[in-house]
Amino acid sequence: MNDPSTKCPFCRILRGELPSKKVYENDHVFAFEDINPKAPTHVLVIPKKHFAGLKEAQEEDAEAIGRCHLAAAEIARQRKIEKGYRTVVNVGPGSGQSVFHLHVHLLGGRHLSWPPG
Ligand code: AMP
Ligand code: ZN
Repeated sequence: MNDPSTKCPFCRILRGELPSKKVYENDHVFAFEDINPKAPTHVLVIPKKHFAGLKEAQEEDAEAIGRCHLAAAEIARQRKIEKGYRTVVNVGPGSGQSVFHLHVHLLGGRHLSWPPG
């Protein structure tokens, strides 16, 4: 009844209730174009299982977190942006997290300054 996935926008994308531009999918993860891109490549990689974020992740989520990063690396390979790209997980509203379904941002295709703001 209080299943957070009912209203979660990324679960809704997974269920096909909201549109997305799919980039990659395997049994564990789904990747799609960010709707408000901050770089020429800005892809979001999400686990197919809902959990709110890194702060909320449990031992059992370790594999999903790793698989999101491996998928990001594969997409970067496919897009030939391996000269320099970044994977980012925002954790909590103070970091800019606005969607509470864990997601890895893959940013690339331009110079990325360090440290991020
Ligand atoms: P964060 O701020 O780390 O929680 O990242 C959420 C990201 O999701 C932002 O970069 C948004 O632009 C993106 N986003 C939100 N809703 C959608 C959507 N329906 N389709 C694609 N990207 C989205
Ligand atoms: Zn979700």
